[in-house]
Amino acid sequence: MKISIIFDTGRVGEAITSKVILERKIPFNILTAKIDAKGGEMLIEAPDDKAAELIEAFKEKGVHVETRKFVEIVPDKCINCGQCYSICPVDAIIYDEDYTITLKQHDCIGCLQCVDSCPFGAIVKVS
Ligand code: SF4
Ligand code: SF4
Repeated sequence: MKISIIFDTGRVGEAITSKVILERKIPFNILTAKIDAKGGEMLIEAPDDKAAELIEAFKEKGVHVETRKFVEIVPDKCINCGQCYSICPVDAIIYDEDYTITLKQHDCIGCLQCVDSCPFGAIVKVS
């Protein structure tokens, strides 16, 4: 999974990446890194089964983390049955007070279990 790690000016001088690697011992590839004294962005590729832990580790260090948009809901097809809500491993799909579902893109790790679970083809992979 590809994850963007965004460093702001206040955090760019800290050895955050090294600390995450040492503490979590999760290997990942650094695909690109555009960082200077003002901050910047590092794009990494993490093992799918470790992505959630890695995202959490960077967030704990106060770094902004973004994942690519992996799935989206097709409103015309969705009947709000909740099947995808039940299966999402990171609670990226929530039920609103009016019993409609909402996808929280920032929390989605792209496992695609919701796509496979929807009986109506109402949640689809974004290519
Ligand atoms: S499983 Fe499909 S129809 Fe049911 S709430 Fe999720 S997206 Fe909507
Ligand atoms: S792709 Fe996975 S993490 Fe993202 S909303 Fe679907 S079930 Fe949740």
